[in-house]
Amino acid sequence: MFRTLTALALLTCLPATAMTQPARPALIVAISVDQFSGDLFNQYRGHFTGGLARLTQGAVFPRGYQSHAATETCPGHSTILTGARPARTGIIANNWIDQSIPRPDKTVYCAEDESVPGSSSSAYTVSPLHLKVPTLGERMKAADPASRSVAVAGKDRAAVMMAGQKADAVWWWKDDRFTSYAAATPRAAVHGINAAVASRLARARPASALPAICAAQDHPVPVGAGRNVGTGRFAREGGNAKAFRASPELDGATLDLATALIDEMRLGQRTGHSDIIAIGLSATDYIGHSYGTAGSEMCIQMAALDRALGAFLDRLDRSGTDYVVALTADHGGHDLPERNAANAVPDAARVDAALNPAAINAALQQRLGLGQPPLLADGAAGDWYLAAGLSPADRQKVAAAALALWRAHPQVAAVFTRAEIAATPAPTGAPDSWTLLQEARASFDPARSGDFLVLLKPRITPIADPDRGTVATHGSPWDYDRRVPILFWRKGMAGFEQPNAVETVDIAPTLAALIGLPIATGEMDGRCRDLQPGGFDICGQ
Ligand code: ZN
Repeated sequence: MFRTLTALALLTCLPATAMTQPARPALIVAISVDQFSGDLFNQYRGHFTGGLARLTQGAVFPRGYQSHAATETCPGHSTILTGARPARTGIIANNWIDQSIPRPDKTVYCAEDESVPGSSSSAYTVSPLHLKVPTLGERMKAADPASRSVAVAGKDRAAVMMAGQKADAVWWWKDDRFTSYAAATPRAAVHGINAAVASRLARARPASALPAICAAQDHPVPVGAGRNVGTGRFAREGGNAKAFRASPELDGATLDLATALIDEMRLGQRTGHSDIIAIGLSATDYIGHSYGTAGSEMCIQMAALDRALGAFLDRLDRSGTDYVVALTADHGGHDLPERNAANAVPDAARVDAALNPAAINAALQQRLGLGQPPLLADGAAGDWYLAAGLSPADRQKVAAAALALWRAHPQVAAVFTRAEIAATPAPTGAPDSWTLLQEARASFDPARSGDFLVLLKPRITPIADPDRGTVATHGSPWDYDRRVPILFWRKGMAGFEQPNAVETVDIAPTLAALIGLPIATGEMDGRCRDLQPGGFDICGQ
């Protein structure tokens, strides 16, 4: 009886449109806000009045997950439009170590082509080479060669990982302007935005006004020798491109470029074709690293981001394009330990410098009488590699001694060997219930991952010395770094809130379903999420 009534109610009460397949959107706008954690979203959600307020009227997943262990920018961006976790995208970290490459620098940057002569992981040639799976844009172009795929971002790795191997335009911020691959088609839109940015950058920028909602967070927090964070206003001298980058100005310029490219390339304006633009808004991450997540700086940024997104969506509305927006983040974030301590979490701490690669290597060399550093790593946490020159006997000795060192250290949560991770099945089920080992498996690539994965305890910031400018970070397997909002919005859609945990790898299959693009079973790690509450199931389930 109940069933019959429910079915009747559905048939009679729902608007007719909800029972039929919605028209395919002409333009997908996929936005990644770098370091926009679930915590930031929750903290500011009630204060948004611009673009983010609009998006929270759509399908809202406040507990999205970048489900893997290595919650860094490159892996995070690699999941958003591929539907695949880093174990499948191959993008296990921002940097990994490959001792087989002929150049002296054995560190490989995720979005470089290390075979270019004279390159290094810091002076690299940008390339999508390492991404092992197609993006949604590539799939759209394969299905319809007239379909256009564009990416713009404040970071090269954000643009590259969301665009993939084949796109019509990929532009990212470098030093003081937007740039692209050497062979890229020159675009009037980019030229115009770069000229506008150059004149803006040349002028000094006055301090931002402090929004009323930020007053309570406007406190100085001492960090390192003689430095405070927490009361910044983004005042900038003329010509200071680094200050421009770590301020709301970068996102404004990126959104201006996105608009200009949408106009110039007529994205979403051609009948019968769907286009996609991926937009990486990087300022939130630069601000989080420079000032932490809970001071005046981040508060001003959240208000500015909301405003800039609102203006961007208003411009899109005026174009008359039927577009769908998906907004998420590449990873979450965590405040600096000094302010956490002041804000009632005194167990937050900086990593013990004894866990840094130089210190671990020195300890092992002394203990085992080795002439060369036996391990390679990018930092205290993450992948560690046994040096290629070690004899089999020394490898065993180093492994045993290193594991003992790590496991005895009070700041280390877990160390997994590559064999342990490789023997673990790819995780299934809701990402909020995974073990650390399952998270590690989602980040594991047999050819690129290390011999050991070191995971620090919660609230340990892996920056021993904050004096060098970066005071806070992300990258851990803990939920403050894994949780991100996932928001879908389209004009006229009936919104809903779904508080259960979902994954960023669900975004690509969901968008594919919206535009009627078939995805073969097993090709993605994520699953389509039906964005229509009741009525027609866009996922065809
Ligand atoms: Zn990031």
